[in-house]
Amino acid sequence: MEVTIAKYAGACFGVERALDIVLKNADQKNNVVTLGPLIHNPKVVADLESKGVRVIEKPDEVDSATLIVRTHGVVPEIIDEAKALGHDVVDATCPYVKKVHLAASKLEDEGYQVIIVGESGHPEVDGIVGHAKGAWVVGSRVELEQMTLPKKIGVVVQTTQSQNLLQEVVSYLCTRCENLKVINTICQATSERQAAAKDLALECDCMIVIGGKNSANTTRLYEICLQSCSNTHHIETSDELRVEWFKGCNHIGITAGASTPQKHIQIVKSAIDNLVA
Ligand code: SF4
Repeated sequence: MEVTIAKYAGACFGVERALDIVLKNADQKNNVVTLGPLIHNPKVVADLESKGVRVIEKPDEVDSATLIVRTHGVVPEIIDEAKALGHDVVDATCPYVKKVHLAASKLEDEGYQVIIVGESGHPEVDGIVGHAKGAWVVGSRVELEQMTLPKKIGVVVQTTQSQNLLQEVVSYLCTRCENLKVINTICQATSERQAAAKDLALECDCMIVIGGKNSANTTRLYEICLQSCSNTHHIETSDELRVEWFKGCNHIGITAGASTPQKHIQIVKSAIDNLVA
């Protein structure tokens, strides 16, 4: 029985950076809060809480805190509000998400109808809309087919979306608008993790995908693996592993979302090694 971790899996640059920022602030200050969970990984958020870092939903829930903006980013008005309330705002928005903010804002300034390929209601997408107020959010080609499209369209993408969805949207728009500008803002960490998960799933008879059930990029990895390996399971912790998943398997693959620290992957791998020993 072979157990393989995908070539690219787990915490990305943006998540490592944000965790580093929060931990440094928590070491030096008392009243540290994050605006929403720092990342979509309940285990990591619980670990931070044990170090005194609380999660708040709105800036007015606390007084004079060090308020950390998470990797997904926020609309500019929230940062203004937090500063006006006297918080020390520390911006841990991933630089790649900031690039999407800039791209969407520039397209809107240039007169394009901005389309964000992404998940409506996702915090990152809400933040992008905050930088291009007239943007439309599109989650599928079917949604596009129901829209009356203008002649000039500019496309950006939620950083964790799949290349397949972007291709579907772009191929539809190509034949229906005169002036189409596409800025592929899917981040490299996402593309690498998706490609590595797909390659590994093709070789395995069981795939374990680790990450928050509320994590969009982990759910996408699960869907990608499921297409090639029907025995795919999405877990948050090693407690959820079931020995029956591995019966008759020769090769078990592991991948993990961009919000899963490397040490969590190693814990799951050790648990699988023990279960199949
Ligand atoms: S997945 Fe990409 S955009 Fe999102 S936090 Fe990680 S590096 Fe940044």
